[in-house]
Amino acid sequence: MSNIDTKATSQPAFSTIALKPALLENLATMGYESMTPIQAMSLPAILNGEDVIGQGKTGSGKTAAFGLGLLNKLEVKRFCIQSVVLCPTRELADQVAKEIRTLARGIHNIKVLTLCGGVPMGPQIGSLEHGAHIIVGTPGRIIDHLERGRLALENVTTLILDEADRMLEMGFQPSLDAIMEHIPRERQTLLFSATFPKQIQTIAEQIMFKPVICKVESHH
Ligand code: ADP
Ligand code: MG
Repeated sequence: MSNIDTKATSQPAFSTIALKPALLENLATMGYESMTPIQAMSLPAILNGEDVIGQGKTGSGKTAAFGLGLLNKLEVKRFCIQSVVLCPTRELADQVAKEIRTLARGIHNIKVLTLCGGVPMGPQIGSLEHGAHIIVGTPGRIIDHLERGRLALENVTTLILDEADRMLEMGFQPSLDAIMEHIPRERQTLLFSATFPKQIQTIAEQIMFKPVICKVESHH
C-alpha cells in the first residue's frame, strides 16, 4: 500500500471497490470520482453484507454510501421489494429517492417508489399495485400501508434508517418498532445518523447484528 493518501483529504476511487460495472459507469457520469471519507470507511463493510452504523455530518455523502450498497446487491430481475429506506421527512425521502434513481439510471428499469405522509393515498395505492424494487419513505405512512395490507416486506434484504436521530426526535420510535415486525430478521441493516445519542445505541442493539461503526470526525 503506497501513495494512496497523497493528500490528507484524498480518498480511494470508487473503482477500487467491488461495485458492479454499471454502477461505476453511473458514478463516472455523475462526476463522483473518489469516495468521501464516510463512503471509503463504510462501503467495504456494506458491500460485504455487514450491518453498518454510519455517523457523519450533513453533506458527507451518506446517501451514496447506502444507495450503492443496496443497488449493488439488488436482484433486478426479481421484481419485488428488496430494500426499504426510512427517512424522517418527505423532503429527505424525495432527495434520497432522486439520488438512488440517478445511481441506478439505465440499469434494467430499477423501480424506486416513495411512500411519504402528507400526500394523497390514492396515487400511492396505485403505485404499490404496480410494484417496486426499492421503497423510500417516512415511517408513519409505511406502517399505514403495511397495516392495511397494501405493502408486503417479506422479501426485504436491506433495511436502511437514514437520519435515525431525527426520526427518533420526531417521535417515530413506535412506527419503527412496528415496521420491524414486518421485515425478515435475516437482513442487512444500515443506520445513518449525524449524532449518536443513547436512544440510537439502544435501537441499534435491538435491530442490528454486530454492526461495524464508521464514524467520520468533522474537522474545522
Ligand atoms: P449526507 O446524507 O451525508 O448529508 P449527501 O448524501 O446528501 O450527504 O451528499 C452531499 C452531496 O455530496 C450531494 O450533493 C452529493 O451529490 C455529493 N456527493 C456524494 N458523494 C460524492 C462523491 N463521492 N463525489 C462527489 N460528490 C459526492
Ligand atoms: Mg443524508
